[in-house]
Amino acid sequence: MNSTIAKLKAAGYQAVIGLEVHVQLKTESKIFSSDANASEALPNQNISVISLGHPGTLPVLNKEAVRMAILMGLACDSQITQVNHFDRKSYFYPDLPKGYQTTQDKTPICVGGKVGLFGKDLLQEEVVLHHIHLEEDAGKSVHDHGESTLIDLNRAGTPLIEIVTEPAINGPEEASLFLQEVRRIVRFLDISEANMEKGELRCDANISIRPINSLKLGNKAEIKNMNSFSNVRRAITYELERQLELCLAGDEIAIETRTFSPNTGTTSSMRMKETMNDYRYFPCPDLPPLVIETSFIDELRTGMNITPQQMRKNFQELYQLSDYDVSLLTEEKETALYFSALCQQVKNPKSAANWMNGTIRGLMNDLNQNIDQLNLSSGRLAELINLTDDKKISAKVAVHHVLPKMLESERSAFDIAKENDLLSVKDDSQIDQLIEDVLLSLPKEVEAYKAGKKKLLGLFMGEVMKKSRGKADPKELQVKLNKKLNQ
Ligand code: ADP
Ligand code: MG
Repeated sequence: MNSTIAKLKAAGYQAVIGLEVHVQLKTESKIFSSDANASEALPNQNISVISLGHPGTLPVLNKEAVRMAILMGLACDSQITQVNHFDRKSYFYPDLPKGYQTTQDKTPICVGGKVGLFGKDLLQEEVVLHHIHLEEDAGKSVHDHGESTLIDLNRAGTPLIEIVTEPAINGPEEASLFLQEVRRIVRFLDISEANMEKGELRCDANISIRPINSLKLGNKAEIKNMNSFSNVRRAITYELERQLELCLAGDEIAIETRTFSPNTGTTSSMRMKETMNDYRYFPCPDLPPLVIETSFIDELRTGMNITPQQMRKNFQELYQLSDYDVSLLTEEKETALYFSALCQQVKNPKSAANWMNGTIRGLMNDLNQNIDQLNLSSGRLAELINLTDDKKISAKVAVHHVLPKMLESERSAFDIAKENDLLSVKDDSQIDQLIEDVLLSLPKEVEAYKAGKKKLLGLFMGEVMKKSRGKADPKELQVKLNKKLNQ
């Protein structure tokens, strides 16, 4: 158990965490206009009068954003809301030129649902969602340019889904794993790149503690500004410890928004509840209700990509792989799909998993390439794996001599092995001849062996191996040598 959770438990408390996760959807255009959804362009290039909120302009909802939000809901087993409204959340900020954010307040597009967690010794197997709603992103205030703050509105109007969990996450590790699974899901669904360092996946954490067995929620602090999985874990851990200390001292926990500093690993107060915004939500008069037909939802359900959870289940059930293998193989979508294809073509999925998580992973790390960037189709790798499993080439030869040549050309493993005379010597008479030659060339050693110096077997093995240029099967060779020497 995480040591902070253990500390809480010993003091009679439990952690209560709820996350609000923003995911930028990778649509072509923005959620309410035809501006390109490309916030990395030069500043303020993708801004029309709609993104700028000029009077008299009207937003038009992007169907692609709706499609992506529904896919997320389906992947999380949420209920899809069929009559949706959009609302205005009013606040003033320089990077929000309209003076309000268009969002969904009362009718989020997805209600309920859950995300399964995958890991060892967890406090819970799944996280229950409150809802997922659609909204627009604000622009960006750039503070690191001398004295002025610069405004870039490229991001204003980028479609977001906000995933809001129930206050039902029990620890920092579980919160971080939840977030990692969300990233995997949106990548598998192909609805976001979800890079945290680019702000495509962002998270606020609501944190409180309460006596074990109490049903009443404690006062919460909301933590902003965590831009990595490890920072989410660190911020929550720090905050739980801080709140426990206050509780044990008999002090009240303030309801407030706090910010996390990655440098110090601490949180500090940004604003108290009394000064929090009143957003004055009201229905957006510019957008008609969004009605989602059942047939559209069914169509999406039928055509949707596999989820990481389903993929893990498949790998476990079809190929009996270990949790460790499965977690590595489903970490990235490209690898998971590649491995699926590989398994259709190899005789032994377990050895395919070993190849993927060993040699191939090493290669990807060394070259800093993902599986699709390596010049190695699943069909070509499958052939290499099968040749090795069938002992037509030795594992050593496969890894060190055949595979590197495969990456440099389109030639098959068998052709490369054959051309370079790397196929294992299966021909018994050839091996017998080599044994014969070696033993004849080492008469003294043979005598010594027969007199009891049994460890000389290694020498004979090595010599025959050398002469066969690594192509003799070591197990068979040992049997043959023993037989010959003991004749
Ligand atoms: P707010 O009104 O402050 O926005 P919400 O009720 O909308 O709060 O909840 C926002 C998020 O905070 C949700 O993820 C919810 O699960 C979480 N949350 C609410 N109350 C608590 C609490 N006491 N402790 C921890 N998380 C909480
Ligand atoms: Mg809220």
